[in-house]
Amino acid sequence: MQAQRNAQHFEIRETCPVCGQRGSDPFYTAPMAADPVRSFIASQYDEQQGRVDWGRLEGTDYSLVQCDVCALVYQRHVPNDALLTHIYSEMIAPRFLAELERERLTLDNFHKVAGELSVLFKATDKHPSDIRFLDYGFGYGRWARVARALGAQVAATELGDDKKRAAASIGVEMIDEGVIEAAGVSGERFDIVHTEQVFEHLVEPGEAFRRLAAATDGIMKVAVPRGGSIRRLLARRGLTRISPFQKARMGKAWRRDDFAFAAVQPLEHLNAYSGRTMQWLAQANGLKIIGRARESVTTVDHTSMRGFASSAARLGAKLGRRMLGGGDDGYYLFRKT
Ligand SMILES: [Zn+2]
Repeated sequence: MQAQRNAQHFEIRETCPVCGQRGSDPFYTAPMAADPVRSFIASQYDEQQGRVDWGRLEGTDYSLVQCDVCALVYQRHVPNDALLTHIYSEMIAPRFLAELERERLTLDNFHKVAGELSVLFKATDKHPSDIRFLDYGFGYGRWARVARALGAQVAATELGDDKKRAAASIGVEMIDEGVIEAAGVSGERFDIVHTEQVFEHLVEPGEAFRRLAAATDGIMKVAVPRGGSIRRLLARRGLTRISPFQKARMGKAWRRDDFAFAAVQPLEHLNAYSGRTMQWLAQANGLKIIGRARESVTTVDHTSMRGFASSAARLGAKLGRRMLGGGDDGYYLFRKT
């Protein structure tokens, strides 16, 4: 049966948005405005205090395809620009998001982010003040502000005037996509290109990756929802009716299935990546994967460079062991080959 789409609100991705391969048949198709997808969506946005305009979702199927070449799992029908704006400004209440982000700015979180960024800074072999850091998808600046505090020169991309003002207020330079495109050719590059929970949202992730890889002089970090065997899971038990994010807000721990469902969240997580997809992206863009686990220097001794170096060295050893294990944390570090 032909999958349904309301062309007024949704676009169709006929080819793989990572590698361009012509799409094969969807392995899962169900109407957005009927259960189980409807309950999944309703529980998601109910949680975020937003309002779902079901009229815009009627007549379109939630439809998942897996690419034969790069293994990406992607939603074939993606919201057009107008619907994306509606989703990110009304279905997710901005006040809710701003408050959530404020809650997250704790000392604990600062140390966590600083610990992880210390690993990336160390990998550049540069003095922090010489590091040019690009935060692609600034959000509310949870990462960029810490990168600034650690001494780097920080640029970022984000949509919306309020976020641009927020960036300026913490000393982050806002640039637009065009500048990144130019950076690849003109030679103005970044030592660290940082993306945290961005690539799953993009309508054209392959293009964005290509631009960012070209603008990378040192390392590039891509963190996405942890991949899972969504295909087998859907065949075995069908789609969840309760958004994993609702479970998370209620303080319940996620099981393996929750991670897999979250990775293909309707309307927002348009692309679900596996190690194979990232390997394809690396190869196509002159990069290699040098890390696959989120690591952090837990005790940063700022009073002694030797202390910092030895904790970073211990971490290096740990990272090596983790890589051999080959688990999937949805975390990838790339370096130019
Ligand atoms: Zn592909």
